Amino acid sequence: MEKKYSKILRAMTKDGSARAYVINSTEIVNEAIKIHKTSPTAAALLGRVLTAASVMGTMLPEKECTMTLAIRGNGMAGTTLATSDYYGNVKGYISNPLADLPLKPNGKLDVSGIVGGGILCVSKDVGDEVPYNGNIELVSGEIAEDVAQYFAVSEQTPTLCALGVLVNPDITCKASGGVFVQLLPFADESIISVLEENAKSLNNISSKFAEGLSNEEILKIALNGIEYDLFDEIEVEYKCDCSRKRTERALISLGKPEIEKIFLEQKEEGKEEKIELECHFCNKKYSYTKEEALALFKDKE
Ligand SMILES: [Zn+2]
Repeated sequence: MEKKYSKILRAMTKDGSARAYVINSTEIVNEAIKIHKTSPTAAALLGRVLTAASVMGTMLPEKECTMTLAIRGNGMAGTTLATSDYYGNVKGYISNPLADLPLKPNGKLDVSGIVGGGILCVSKDVGDEVPYNGNIELVSGEIAEDVAQYFAVSEQTPTLCALGVLVNPDITCKASGGVFVQLLPFADESIISVLEENAKSLNNISSKFAEGLSNEEILKIALNGIEYDLFDEIEVEYKCDCSRKRTERALISLGKPEIEKIFLEQKEEGKEEKIELECHFCNKKYSYTKEEALALFKDKE
């Protein structure tokens, strides 16, 4: 079967006032639901965070960079986190994938209800330099407004952000996507007011994708009345880069005494002596027998 990708369309206004990103993230969100077996509300929350992180990843300056967007709320969802690379490929998790609430009076999933209050954290790993960290208080817990606030406060980049995830009754993703429009320095005032007016039409962004609108058609709504150039459209996906090598490093950093303690406890409890590490992002399991785990320290002695 041919692999289906999510896509990000990138564009810039002709006068250089703003750049725009439109992402259809339906495939990414469906993959996340499959892996994490979420409730409908958790699917919407995790989906919005993955969608935002995918776009934010493509804003990174270098190919080796990665970024993480974390929503640390005090509601029943706990922490919801997504990590993206420079190419916009993402992976994520939610502490409580079963967090769920009744629909809001307007018929929408109560994303802010399961988030509660808390903070939004962005960290960027930019190679050898000191990692960048930016935190803000959540504004609404609906994610799009929180991300917009982050850009305004932490990056001094005014950003219009719309995010939406539509979940089917069988808890698959019907449609998911987002729009980011960022003002560049010296943006034309008249263009700003047009963009703000256009943004009102992007309130129900997921239903626009559900109706079958393409990224380009949605971009036309976001930049209605403004001349722009299309930059490119890139394929992005839910992608986990975990490996046995990485879990080896995790075990080594735990230290030999700690590992020996685990095995000793298992022995005393009459359990099988083995260490199993599970990837938070894709649920893949990496299993080590006692011999395999202790062998990791052999050449270090
Ligand atoms: Zn993984």
